[in-house]
Amino acid sequence: MDFYNNTSPIGKLSVLCIYHIVYEPTFKSIIFHHWTECNLKCLGCYCKVEKLDFSLLPDWQIRVSTNPPEKAPERLLSLEEALSMTNGLDIDRAIFIGVEPSLDPGMPVLAREMKSKHKTYNILFTNGVTLPDLSNIDEVIFSLKAVTPESYKNYTGGDNRKSMANFRRVYNSGKKLQAEITLIPGVIDADEIEKVARFIALIDNKIPLRITGFIQLSGQAFRAPTGVEVESAATLAKRHLKTVNYLSGEMPRVGTPPIRLF
Ligand code: SF4
Repeated sequence: MDFYNNTSPIGKLSVLCIYHIVYEPTFKSIIFHHWTECNLKCLGCYCKVEKLDFSLLPDWQIRVSTNPPEKAPERLLSLEEALSMTNGLDIDRAIFIGVEPSLDPGMPVLAREMKSKHKTYNILFTNGVTLPDLSNIDEVIFSLKAVTPESYKNYTGGDNRKSMANFRRVYNSGKKLQAEITLIPGVIDADEIEKVARFIALIDNKIPLRITGFIQLSGQAFRAPTGVEVESAATLAKRHLKTVNYLSGEMPRVGTPPIRLF
């Protein structure tokens, strides 16, 4: 598939790797799902077994635990197509998510155009290995994975020095920053989460950390933590950080149903 063959009146680069768009009326949010060649190979990558936004799938937990591996999307949208799908919508927030949006060369242009068209507050989810142009990004949600080099290597196949340095760079840039990490019993345990919290606190103990409980994934033997285990990891992290939130698969979804735009 040739991702890089478009030209555009909007800018030199209309290249975009968006394969799926969801609108959340309750939160006035639009969620752009990107598909790139990720620079990590996380053992617990949900995108490898389910490409659709989980908010659309009441049975998403069953799907991620039973689905076979996903194939690459058949079609990616151009910048113009993605923007046209936002026409007439009341949008406060644009969220860039999926298989590493920071590697999508069109993401910074889409962020700029969303800000210009809808005055959106733009949020980038990233593993932080590579930092794109963040000029039109208001907030970065940074998945730290692990701070112990061996744990990071085992889980992602990569080296965490770049992402840790980039975490500091984003903080030093003055942008709003949140960290997130997944608790996976036997892989990323509560003690590793406490180390992550300690690392963040050395930069600023007011940076929020969100802990997510792993969901059973097809092809992987790891189990999901219980709600109590997620809460215990959060208690350890709270020794170092002022704000620690946590989510587990046991928690219900709130708000009216989202709408699939593409
Ligand atoms: S960084 Fe994200 S998209 Fe990339 S492999 Fe890990 S979980 Fe998947």
